[in-house]
Amino acid sequence: MKLIMLGAPGAGKGTQAARVAAELKVPHISTGDIFRSNIKNGTELGRKAKEYMDAGKLVPDELTCDLVADRIAQDDCKGGFILDGFPRTIPQAEALDKVLSSRGEKVDYAVNIDVPDAAIVARMSGRRACVSCGATYHIEFNPPKKEGICDVCGAELILRADDKPETVQTRLDVYHEQTQPLIDYYAKQGALVTVDGTQPMDEVFAAILAKLGK
Ligand code: ADP
Ligand code: AMP
Repeated sequence: MKLIMLGAPGAGKGTQAARVAAELKVPHISTGDIFRSNIKNGTELGRKAKEYMDAGKLVPDELTCDLVADRIAQDDCKGGFILDGFPRTIPQAEALDKVLSSRGEKVDYAVNIDVPDAAIVARMSGRRACVSCGATYHIEFNPPKKEGICDVCGAELILRADDKPETVQTRLDVYHEQTQPLIDYYAKQGALVTVDGTQPMDEVFAAILAKLGK
């Protein structure tokens, strides 16, 4: 199954994508994680992406689309994949459709996690991310077993630079302007399913599986 996750920054895409990927046994591909790992490793791509990410802006499509096309061409994606954080613009969605249709494939479901802006800012200030493996926690709603330490790999947890309230507002503006139109785009393809992302995480997960017929 080929899935994409839609929703505002902080809606819970990464949280749910990880769980759904484990359930469906397909890779979870997060463009944000790929950029952060490039920044950490000091690559040219990381250097270019960082200035946009720190400002809460989108990394340009030309740096993003080829990266995803290469990733989904790898062997582990043959049985499907979950894209988390891609596409974020109409040109990215068109690029994805082009790559998939050249292989006689398509996006099966676009899962839209719906959370109003007012709930997002509070969520983001409590998000903590692992510096090493990218696992995500929330200090109130999904705390790690040991404060400040990743349950998965034992590395340090941080507040992402782009989760500061002033940057979150920019990211929400960018979301409404450039990413929200994808909801219509996938509705027209008949691939859109929407879940209420204000519910507790387990309920959001159950709602997604139900919409996927799992
Ligand atoms: P996204 O990938 O859409 O940016 P995340 O999955 O990282 O969002 O979630 C943002 C923050 O909100 C994280 O700290 C996460 O633990 C928390 N979170 C995710 N889903 C829920 C939920 N249903 N209720 C409360 N907090 C949530
Ligand atoms: P995320 O981890 O999905 O919240 O992404 C963090 C940041 O990485 C975003 O605010 C963007 O700057 C950048 N980014 C991630 N995915 C994309 C994408 N598909 N297109 C453009 N920028 C992206």
